[in-house]
Amino acid sequence: MRFIFLGTGGGRFVMTKQLRRTAGFVVRSGETMVHVDPGPGAVVYLNKVVGDPGKLSAVLVSHAHLDHSHDVPVLVEGMADGGRKKRGILIGSSCAINGCQDFLPVIGEYHKAMLDQVIVAEPGQEFRIGDLKVYTTPTWHNEPSGVGFTFSDGKYTVSYLSDTGYTDELGRELKKLRPNAVIFNLIFDGEERVPHTNMDTVRSVLSEITPEIVLLQHFGAKITMRKMERALARRIEEEFGVKTVALRDGDVVDLPPKRDRTLEAFI
Ligand SMILES: [Zn+2]
Ligand SMILES: [Zn+2]
Repeated sequence: MRFIFLGTGGGRFVMTKQLRRTAGFVVRSGETMVHVDPGPGAVVYLNKVVGDPGKLSAVLVSHAHLDHSHDVPVLVEGMADGGRKKRGILIGSSCAINGCQDFLPVIGEYHKAMLDQVIVAEPGQEFRIGDLKVYTTPTWHNEPSGVGFTFSDGKYTVSYLSDTGYTDELGRELKKLRPNAVIFNLIFDGEERVPHTNMDTVRSVLSEITPEIVLLQHFGAKITMRKMERALARRIEEEFGVKTVALRDGDVVDLPPKRDRTLEAFI
């Protein structure tokens, strides 16, 4: 599987000031390509780095927050060749697809009608999208219906937890999935303003499972402006003895790493 991190920023200030890109990431396996959490700028960097949205098989939205969902309609319109074909799959949290509380749906009926399939995801489900298997995991966040996505090509498993604090339920699910790599949305280092991922969340997860590789992204404003990413990655690596990488915008990561190359060689 190839992971193309079009953007590695997260949270309202990084998004509105574009301190980092907020374009989400693309997962590619064989002929299958999915775009995960397309925040503002996703359509720009998808076109620049990968190609136009007509190449996507699916768009996955972990929750309704803007930094994860803003560009969904434009990607859907691209997947469906401007609406000329009924094509593509959209998988998203219940609030993202249908709206809830203070959230409008991230996509209207006009764009839903362009898709082959619109799926409301709940934790504990399993989907097949071409060459990829996708499992959903629970989140604890201030969007009540959010999910994480775990990707598998049958040989290697990568868990993207999305925005979430730690819960025992998440720990249990990850123990079952036994991911080889975990992607954390490390928006904060220490503070806990809302249920979200901080260093303690990472520690709690790594106390339950031992992946081979940890990838950090979706950094918030404090971590970005104080350039703390690499130091935080080093701290995790020292505490848990797991290879940990602070991702940068545009990084391309092949998982599993190619045998003749170190992880650094292709990041
Ligand atoms: Zn976020
Ligand atoms: Zn969020």
